[in-house]
Amino acid sequence: MWGRSVDEDCAYLIAEGRKYLVKFDEDLVEKAFRFCVEAHKHDVRASGEPYYTHPAQVAHIVMREIPLDDISVVAALLHDVVEDTQVSVRDIRAEYGSEVAEIVDGATKISDVFKSREITQAESYRKLLLSLVKDVRVMLIKFADRLHNMRTIESLPPERQERMARETLDIYAPFAHRFGLGSIKWELEDLSFKVLQRTIYDDIKRQLNSTREEREDYIEKFSKPIAERLNEHGIAFEINGRPKHLYSIYTKTVLRNKTLDELYDLFAIRVIIDTNDNNDCFFVYGLISEIYTPVPERFKNFISVPKKNGYQSLHTTVIGTDGKRVEVQIRTRAMHDYAERGVAAHFRYKAQSGATASWIDSKDLEEWATWVRDIFESAGDEAPKQLMESFRLNLYQDEIYVFTPKGDLRILPRGATPIDFAFDIHSAVGARCVGAKVNGRIVPLHHHLDTGDQVEILTSRNQTPHRDWERHVVTHKAKTHIRRILNEERRRHVAEGRDIWQKRAKKVGLHINEDDLERLAYQLKYESRSDFYLALGTGSLSSEQASTMILELMRPGHEHEAAHEPPTSTDEHRDAARERAEGIYIVGDNIPTTKVLFTYAHCCNPVPGDEIIGVVTIGSGIRVHRANCHNVSDIGDKIKDRLIDVRWSKHQRGEFFAGIKITGDDRPGMLNDITSAVNSINNTNIRSLTIDAYDSIFEGNLTVYVDDIGHLQRIFDKLYHIKGVRSVERLER
Ligand code: MN
Repeated sequence: MWGRSVDEDCAYLIAEGRKYLVKFDEDLVEKAFRFCVEAHKHDVRASGEPYYTHPAQVAHIVMREIPLDDISVVAALLHDVVEDTQVSVRDIRAEYGSEVAEIVDGATKISDVFKSREITQAESYRKLLLSLVKDVRVMLIKFADRLHNMRTIESLPPERQERMARETLDIYAPFAHRFGLGSIKWELEDLSFKVLQRTIYDDIKRQLNSTREEREDYIEKFSKPIAERLNEHGIAFEINGRPKHLYSIYTKTVLRNKTLDELYDLFAIRVIIDTNDNNDCFFVYGLISEIYTPVPERFKNFISVPKKNGYQSLHTTVIGTDGKRVEVQIRTRAMHDYAERGVAAHFRYKAQSGATASWIDSKDLEEWATWVRDIFESAGDEAPKQLMESFRLNLYQDEIYVFTPKGDLRILPRGATPIDFAFDIHSAVGARCVGAKVNGRIVPLHHHLDTGDQVEILTSRNQTPHRDWERHVVTHKAKTHIRRILNEERRRHVAEGRDIWQKRAKKVGLHINEDDLERLAYQLKYESRSDFYLALGTGSLSSEQASTMILELMRPGHEHEAAHEPPTSTDEHRDAARERAEGIYIVGDNIPTTKVLFTYAHCCNPVPGDEIIGVVTIGSGIRVHRANCHNVSDIGDKIKDRLIDVRWSKHQRGEFFAGIKITGDDRPGMLNDITSAVNSINNTNIRSLTIDAYDSIFEGNLTVYVDDIGHLQRIFDKLYHIKGVRSVERLER
């Protein structure tokens, strides 16, 4: 039927659409059909058929089984193009509008989630699916997609068959049931059952076949008086023998240790009446019970009290001739359609009976979403409470579902980053994370995770949390841990700093009480005494520098110089600056001075050995830049009179750091290779590391503490030798 020619297939699909859909845009469906053929023209199914026959048949299933609107049909035709071809969601939006684009996007995401993952927590996956679905039509298309894939499963290799069947039975079938898609649910179950338990499947099928004729004769005789009675009362009806679902027979026999003969519903009929009045079902029940004696405890009224998925029907079991028990189901045509087609049937009826509605508009869809939600909310104990919550949360979009590399599900608040994820796994993982891979690609630590992402955390023993991590986390757990670790670290540094200071003070004969030290620290522009200790403890201030500066401040008369007051002219400041500090000297003065107040510019972070230039600043002495720093050359003319020629003195103190940009192949292990290359050089610490990856190109920004340019050069050499590294450059800043 399918695959004869593109034109014939297209014509057939449109003819079917006329049959099943209330109204649809034939041109639009034809356009999507041809678009799909073109997009998939190089693809072939496992069966050898041209690929387009798959989306075409999915669209066909949507029309027949879940007939809703042409948007769903168009989306069904396009459901695989983003995943399998060059076409992007943006292309689809441009061509078919955002509604279709969003449905296709949702369907693609769901495929991504299932790809290459072992399903270990079925309920979690069902939750995840719901969270992904903004438009219920996404789910309907996935059901149709799965159904067609299951119908054609035999062309796949056995392991894939088994995996797909298991997934279908665990996830799609129960989900279809919840959406009220009765016939799809049964078919999915039977197709999975056939793959998973082939021997038992064949056995049940054989037993059913061997007794079929006898059973059919019996049912025919049984139905005859019922049909006569209904005709007498002028009721339009249809009587069916119940279709036999092998999987349900399996669960009722093999799993409960019964034989086929013990099953009531092998002898079963369904009476479908064409009426708008539900009470007619009770009337028909009355008629039947006049013919056959009912078994009272087998009467079930799902009309007054529908099942949780909305199913309605009367069920009864009566005693037929020869004492055989026969199950009878009585329902209206609308109830029957609902039982088979669920939510879609509901809307179809609404559309047909409504005054304006031969067309489903967005308001209807909204109502539908509400209605589906009501189903979940009224599901009571049957649905896990969390399931309902996840459905609601999805509407507010405040939770995401992400995976560990092993496929375990983690639930995090929206906006969560790899740091949150790492702390969620374990506080030790969080504290040591240096990077993360999302879906196999390296991302920066502040990257926002999304539902369906698979996250792998990369750790380093040398890593500790950074202060700015606090800004990049949303979970309480991550926040408290980071704060605790940072505070501990700070306390440790402050205590070390206090030790260093006390030893130094003793050595140079300084006796300062704590209040005075607090004031002096403040004059040195530290927030407090403990910040002063902290600077000593972390090594950003050396004990020699500290004692020199303190002694300076304590010199008689200095107090009036008010440390915060800027010198009034450049010359005056230059004179003052010459007096202090160490590490650089001013060319021409020829005295390697430990008396010049200076700072290293943060824009270019010079390290000993770099060519440098000084800029006399107002308030903070000489600022030392790299000679080629853009900040200086950009405004060089304007500050000409403030430029000063400086050189490194022989001995250096303090900490220097340099930024390095690395690009290369985004391959597994790259990040770890970089961190271990750096760590392999003695005394090298990583200050920060951010990473990004684009189209399999890795880009990392690394900041390392170095002693001098030679040290930096050794790091460069190591980095160059990492496999897949294409370039290593010093960053401007
Ligand atoms: Mn597909």
